[in-house]
Amino acid sequence: MSREMDTKIEKTWCPGCANFTIEAVFKNTLLELEKEGLDLSKVVVLSGIGCHGKISDYLNLSSFYSLHGRAIPVAEGIKLANKDLIPIVFVGDGDAYGEGLEHLIFAAKRNTNINVFVHNNRVYGLTTGQFAPTSPEKFKGRSTPKGSVEEPLNPIELMLASKASFVARGYTGKAEHLKDLMKQALHHRGFSFIDILQPCLAYFDSRDFYGKNVYEMEAQDVSNFNSAMAKALEWDYNNGGKIPVGVFYNQKKLTFEEKICLTN
Ligand code: SF4
Repeated sequence: MSREMDTKIEKTWCPGCANFTIEAVFKNTLLELEKEGLDLSKVVVLSGIGCHGKISDYLNLSSFYSLHGRAIPVAEGIKLANKDLIPIVFVGDGDAYGEGLEHLIFAAKRNTNINVFVHNNRVYGLTTGQFAPTSPEKFKGRSTPKGSVEEPLNPIELMLASKASFVARGYTGKAEHLKDLMKQALHHRGFSFIDILQPCLAYFDSRDFYGKNVYEMEAQDVSNFNSAMAKALEWDYNNGGKIPVGVFYNQKKLTFEEKICLTN
């Protein structure tokens, strides 16, 4: 490795937590991109509140540990202030699809040139197991002992409807595939979004279910919105059904920063 990517801070994620996978895949992604010319001093890692948020402490990169749900607007501000920086935002499912939902939608709508990687464990893990926006119906947790009565959000459907220009889903059980998705996202000019299915071993261990149902999509026309939406609806985040992972949609269009320069 050309650079020490770890800090000296003790990692306090539960043993075997899939957050370790996301962190390891991300480090390998950056080190491989560095060989292609990426300047790691330009990378800024942001995180919100939740188990995922500790990643800011564990990576030897410029970073910003934000308030709950507010990592995305901080990243947008960073990009507007200095277009040479590369904001990479790690958020949890509660963080992105609950508290920070409006920021996620508007960053996608604007096509701000930032990257958003969601650790989607479909539960509030740090606060010991409450149901989250992507928890399936009937999910039994601390706040829903008889089972949740709400339907889950489908983040892929949501991001397509919000005009995101790069939309993908990964799974921590497919690390090489996830690395490829991260690389594609970082190469994309504009708003890039990856919903990463990440089992929480303590409060929602979905490894068996994902192991049986997650499959890698075959190459398809990722510029076709209607086929992307059809694929997005193949799994509705309620348990049951096959789960496609890969790039759903990838479209080139002007970024928010470019549009602002054009109009000023
Ligand atoms: Fe990982 Fe869940 Fe433990 Fe949080 S509570 S560190 S998400 S296993």
